[in-house]
Amino acid sequence: MENLFGLMDDLGPTKILHISLCQAGLKAIVVVDNTACGPAIGGVRIAPDVTAEEACRLARAMTLKNAAAGLPHGGGKSAIVADPRMPPGDKEHLIRAFARAIADLNEYIPGPDMGTDELAMGWVHDEIGRAVGLPREVGGIPLDELGATGFGLAAAVDVGAKAIGLDLKSAKVAVQGFGAVGKHAARFLAQKGCVLVAASDSRGTVSCSAGLDIAGLIALKEAGRSLTDFPHGTKAGTDAIIDVPCDIWIPAARPDVLRKDNAGRLKAKIVAEGANIPCTTEAEAILEARGVLILPDFVVNAGGVICAATEFHGGIETTAFLYIEEKIRRNTALLINKARGEGISMREAAMGLATERIWNAQRTRRWK
Ligand code: NAD
Repeated sequence: MENLFGLMDDLGPTKILHISLCQAGLKAIVVVDNTACGPAIGGVRIAPDVTAEEACRLARAMTLKNAAAGLPHGGGKSAIVADPRMPPGDKEHLIRAFARAIADLNEYIPGPDMGTDELAMGWVHDEIGRAVGLPREVGGIPLDELGATGFGLAAAVDVGAKAIGLDLKSAKVAVQGFGAVGKHAARFLAQKGCVLVAASDSRGTVSCSAGLDIAGLIALKEAGRSLTDFPHGTKAGTDAIIDVPCDIWIPAARPDVLRKDNAGRLKAKIVAEGANIPCTTEAEAILEARGVLILPDFVVNAGGVICAATEFHGGIETTAFLYIEEKIRRNTALLINKARGEGISMREAAMGLATERIWNAQRTRRWK
C-alpha cells in the first residue's frame, strides 16, 4: 500500500476517515492512529487550512503522548476544515453533524483542540455519548478552563530548569499563542517566580523586558481582543516572538513554527513544547547543538489528555492534577537522564520511552 505522506508504518494509522457532507457544509478527516493501549483519544481541530497530512501527524503525536503518559488509550485526531471564528449557531450545527458522522467509530473518543472547547465536546457527547473534556455541568473536568496542559508544562519546565541549573525565580518566559495552553502556562510559571516578557497571538506580539501583567492579558483575550490591544509594552508582528531574549520559550500555537530557517534566531535556554509538533526535526537539532534543552511536545504537553483520561475513567479534578504533576515530572526527569546517559536527543529519548510502552501493550492484543 502507498506509504501515505510517508507517515504509514508498523504503528499506524489504523483508520483514516474522510467526511464530506455538502448539506451540513462539513469537510473533515478523522485519523485513528494506534489502539494498542486502548481506544484512541485525540482532539477535534477546526482550522481553514488543516490537512489530512497534519491530522495524521497529530494523531501519531497522540499515540506517542498517550503511551508516554502511561494512559490506557491510543492516539487519534480529527480535523474539520472551517473557520473557527464562525457564528456560534453555525459552529454547533457543524460540530453536531461531525459527531453524528463518527457515531459508529467507537475506537475514537473526541476531545477539545484548537477551535473547539468544552461546550463543543458537550454537543458531541449529547449526540453520540462519547467525548472527553466535557463541561463541568455534564460531568466533565474542564481542562482548558483549568489549564491542565499549562499546569503540566510548568511542572516539566521546573524539572528541566533544575537539570540545567536555571533558577525559575525571575526567569524570563516568552509564550507564542495565548490560548488555552499558552495563557495558563504563563500563569502557572508565574506562580513559580517566572516573569512573562512576551506573548503573541495570531495578530501580533506584545513584549516588555520588565514583565507583563498576565491577568490583564488573559482578560483581554477573554474579551475576544488581541494582545496587541494591550495598553502597555512594545507591539510587533507575530513572528517577532521568536527574537525576544528569554530563558524559556513556549510555542503554544501552530505546528512547525520553528524550522531550519528561523531556529537560529531563538535566544532561550529551554523550549517547552506546548503546541503539538511546533518544531521541525532540523530545528530541534540546531537548538540542541547550541545546548538548548528541548522538552518534547508529546511528553510535556500531556496534561490535557491526562486530565481527559481521568475524567473518562470517572476521576475528579484533584486526582487529575495529581496525575499530571506526577506523570509529567517523572517522565521529564526520565527523558533528561536517558538523553544524557545514552548521548541521544530528547526526542529520541521520548520516542524510545513511548514506543517501548506501545509494543509492550501490543503484545497483550489479539491479532485475528
Ligand atoms: P487555542 O485555540 O485556545 O489558542 C491558540 C492561540 O494561538 C490563540 O491565542 C491564537 O491567537 C494563537 N495563534 C494562532 N496562530 C498563531 C500564530 N501564527 N502566531 C502566534 N499565535 C497564534 O488553542 P490551544 O488549545 O491553546 O492549543 C494550542 C496548541 O497546543 C495546539 O497546537 C494544540 O494542538 C496544542 N495542545 C493543546 C492542548 C490543550 O489542552 N488545549 C493540549 C496539548 C496540545
